[in-house]
Amino acid sequence: MHNRILITLFMAAAATGLSGISLAQTPTPAPAAPPLFATTKVEGTENVYVFRYQNHQAMFVVTPAGVIATDPISYGRPQAAKTYLEEIAKITKAPVKYLIYSHHHYDHIAGGKPFKDAGAIVIAHRRAKERLAALKGLDVVIPDQVVDGKRTIKLGGTTLELIDTGRNHSDSSLVMLLPKEKIIFAVDFNALGAVPSRLAVNDSYPTEWEASLKRTLALKWDRQIPGHPGPGGRLGTREDMEKQLAFMTDLSTDVKKASDAGKCFDPAVKDVRLPQYATLQGYEQNIEWNIHRWCGYWGRGI
Ligand SMILES: [Zn+2]
Repeated sequence: MHNRILITLFMAAAATGLSGISLAQTPTPAPAAPPLFATTKVEGTENVYVFRYQNHQAMFVVTPAGVIATDPISYGRPQAAKTYLEEIAKITKAPVKYLIYSHHHYDHIAGGKPFKDAGAIVIAHRRAKERLAALKGLDVVIPDQVVDGKRTIKLGGTTLELIDTGRNHSDSSLVMLLPKEKIIFAVDFNALGAVPSRLAVNDSYPTEWEASLKRTLALKWDRQIPGHPGPGGRLGTREDMEKQLAFMTDLSTDVKKASDAGKCFDPAVKDVRLPQYATLQGYEQNIEWNIHRWCGYWGRGI
């Protein structure tokens, strides 16, 4: 309906006192911004929580003997770690015994000092400790202990397995598996229904990433807590990971062909496309970065 007619009808309605009749549609309000942070108990569990701060997430597990926390997610915002600890304290008075890093990238693991000060033992992949010790990043706590291959943590009746499934989005990723709950906390190497972003492929290991996804899929889990909120805040599924693996396998095959034909980096970054994955979130923005990374691998040995 034309706007002028709507206005006329609205004025007529107002003039006749029919204020309850809505003839003109009010504009849809913009969706409210999500709160700065949120703590959510994972459905179907007794003691597994997700702490989200802006666009990052960490898992923590509450037991009578203490708390197992992961990723302080406080890069450039020290208040996030403080809030994280305050949120834990609302649930339990038990101490935080462990702080475990998913991998060494600062956006996930900077800002762990308040946890360390509270007595937590900081644990990470051996390579994460080596990298962090060399980088000496601002506000980064160097791990106290490292994981080589696999380590099992038992605390207050909860078992958490820390598993190195190989190099993927980084060379220091640990999959954290709760075998009873069949939940994993896995960060940045499985994009939920999305093409990996530029930052996700910058420090990555093509082909080894695929092998790591296969090893992760061989573990017994049903749900994945991701390091960034999934679409609508949902958790990850095995189907998400299978799709990520299929995307990477096809990407790798097609870029290898282009590379063998001498097309890397140009014109491959413009020519190679995977239309079967065009519905994945971020496809248009990120496909060239992915091709660039895989071209480096196949075409230059990088
Ligand atoms: Zn990362």
